[in-house]
Amino acid sequence: MQNVAGFNQQAFEAVHQSEEQITSIRINPSKISDSKQGMMSDEVKTSKVPWCEFGYYLNERPSFTFDPIFHAGSYYVQEASSMFLWQVLQQTTGNETQKTVLDLCAAPGGKSTLLASYFTDGLVVSNEVIKQRCSVLVENITKWGSDNVIVTNNDPKDFKRLPNFFDVIVVDAPCSGSGLFRKDKNAIDEWSEENVNLCSQRQQRIIADIADCLNENGILIYSTCSYSNAENEDVLDWIKNSFNLESVQLKVEEEWGIVETVSDAESCYGYRFYPDKVKGEGFFIAAFKKTSTQKTNQKFKETILAKPLKKEIEVVESFMPIRENYFLFKQNEFVRIFPQEYQQQLQIIASNLYIKKAGVELGAVKGKDLIPSHELAMSSLDMKHINNFTLNKEQALQYLSKKEVNIDVHSTGWALMKFDNISLGWIKALPNRINNYYPVEWRILKDKK
Ligand code: SAM
Repeated sequence: MQNVAGFNQQAFEAVHQSEEQITSIRINPSKISDSKQGMMSDEVKTSKVPWCEFGYYLNERPSFTFDPIFHAGSYYVQEASSMFLWQVLQQTTGNETQKTVLDLCAAPGGKSTLLASYFTDGLVVSNEVIKQRCSVLVENITKWGSDNVIVTNNDPKDFKRLPNFFDVIVVDAPCSGSGLFRKDKNAIDEWSEENVNLCSQRQQRIIADIADCLNENGILIYSTCSYSNAENEDVLDWIKNSFNLESVQLKVEEEWGIVETVSDAESCYGYRFYPDKVKGEGFFIAAFKKTSTQKTNQKFKETILAKPLKKEIEVVESFMPIRENYFLFKQNEFVRIFPQEYQQQLQIIASNLYIKKAGVELGAVKGKDLIPSHELAMSSLDMKHINNFTLNKEQALQYLSKKEVNIDVHSTGWALMKFDNISLGWIKALPNRINNYYPVEWRILKDKK
């Protein structure tokens, strides 16, 4: 790294030997109100991550497992440098939040949840190629509760079917991982020069697969958690050489400690994060704007989504109000909800990609009843009129462990369990017992000491 911009060997080694660990979270603005932002708990005081509106540093690393609202997607534990994506969005897309966005390498969902909070009235397609990693992505997206996200499980080359489809594409590429050396000692053992070169080739292949999906004036954001030129500036040079994309220079405040670099051959701007200079881990990010595109009058294939029966819609509407800017569709026995505005995009994606989850699963209609899904409890849809119980912390942890919950209920039927005014999930109260409907695969397995 001797010739890499901003590298200071002594400071870099010292910070890696210091064992200092930085913990940061990004809160979910649709679940935590302004007055409570950054107040995870009284004991853990916080300060703001300067480049991300909802990012906070914690003074210590609490046990997230035993914080009930963590399980309800009230915040995401995310490394602070990665939150710079927020800043890139602000500087490249401004206040235009109604965009069609692709997060191509999405698991476990850090960038996708940030995108969902940014593009509140947009559409976010969150894709992960590795099937096993999709389950954690679905879990995190479900808990985040946004209704405008589609999770897909596709190879980047499958997106060739969608030319000029996206306004913003984020490629948080698989990389050699040197930026995580301080946080994860295993990353050191796994690192090799050979792997850096393999990653660089793969990063180029991935971008080549999706470059045509970007719309005119669209933004491509490329990031890695590697320090290697081969995975960063060299990839930028290759992008500039290969596509109609212009490098975008970003503004960084001096006190943030972020190093702006310029690639050798094509003078593209990149932003390097060193743990000895910023309060965060190693990271690299760059943005490009598409200058021109070959307009095709392509008509995309669309899958017509199954509509619920009239009587099923009546059952759903007797459970909760359905606002007119949403539409309902069926997947297997489940009724799902999605923003009306993006119905056509959903139909196109359903026809061309493999969808793991789209919008919010409301539940299954059984006779005259709706069996509500956990996704509904996690969403921000209007459930004001549904019975709910406020649990104390001990009861909340019992509930989240899928144990028996000791509460006095005075009426039977479905009810939301809440902690700190945030929904944790469903119970069904029967005349003589309470059934805990927390998803078994997400329950807390550890006991609190
Ligand atoms: N964006 C994620 C976040 O913020 O939580 C982290 C993404 S991680 C750096 C890179 C992801 O790329 C991994 O989930 C990995 O499974 C996926 N990946 C691996 N090989 C890939 C390939 N050939 N094409 C696309 N994605 C790939």
